Amino acid sequence: MTDLGDRSAFPRPAPRRTAGPQARKTLVSLIYHDIQAARHRYSFTIEEFREHLAAIKEAVGGAPAVPGGGPDLSGFALTFDDGHVGWLQAAEALQELQWKAFFFVITSAVGKAGALSRSDVRRLASMGHVFGTHTVDHPYLFSARDYAFILDQWSRSKADLEDALGRKVTSGAVPGGFYNSKVGRAADAAGLKYLFTSEPVVTNWDVGGCRIYGRFSLTNGMSSRKVARIAAGARFEHARQYLGWNLKKAAKSVMMGPYQALRKRLYPS
Ligand SMILES: [Zn+2]
Repeated sequence: MTDLGDRSAFPRPAPRRTAGPQARKTLVSLIYHDIQAARHRYSFTIEEFREHLAAIKEAVGGAPAVPGGGPDLSGFALTFDDGHVGWLQAAEALQELQWKAFFFVITSAVGKAGALSRSDVRRLASMGHVFGTHTVDHPYLFSARDYAFILDQWSRSKADLEDALGRKVTSGAVPGGFYNSKVGRAADAAGLKYLFTSEPVVTNWDVGGCRIYGRFSLTNGMSSRKVARIAAGARFEHARQYLGWNLKKAAKSVMMGPYQALRKRLYPS
């Protein structure tokens, strides 16, 4: 059982302009998976993705956040999970806006059918996108595993990605959204500075030297207007996502969706 909800209050309004100097900035992170023609719960077509980008641009104005000098990320961020080959199309669309995104790869899947190759990873990174780890092999019920196992997953995948990229990797995304403080501590020990969960909140917190961020998962059928409202910080949409996420947590099995889809493509038997 995951304890994703153990530290979250109901999503709070973004204190962007009214908060005092000590207030933590908020970040709205969106989770994409594949960009492909085939319909799937967690994928969008490239046309739909372009519509999302246009709607977000109109609603938000600025460019998405990527790591700068410090741990603070604010505004909105675009993140992609698992390592899908459809990211090549997504990157082309992002390039037109000069927007950068976070791409989180399952390192053992790199080079497999349906996934990015190592040279694809290098190419997208050279376009300015941020590559992070999504663990070695996307373990199910990640947060229930022991600390040594979790640390090994973060450390090995980070080292493998650094080897492929020739640069330091400082960000990661929790597989299946199975976050707890143990997962955060292990990420910190492995040297990650930015860890993205799947909890739909805009608030963030620190575990040692690692900043933990929430994210909002996007599913097929969501309109570009809805996606833009989420990105722009609409409290109503965030509350709906938060309620939906907690219902799904109760159903547990839903969390396997994206992983099962990729695994099916990578290991068809
Ligand atoms: Zn995943």
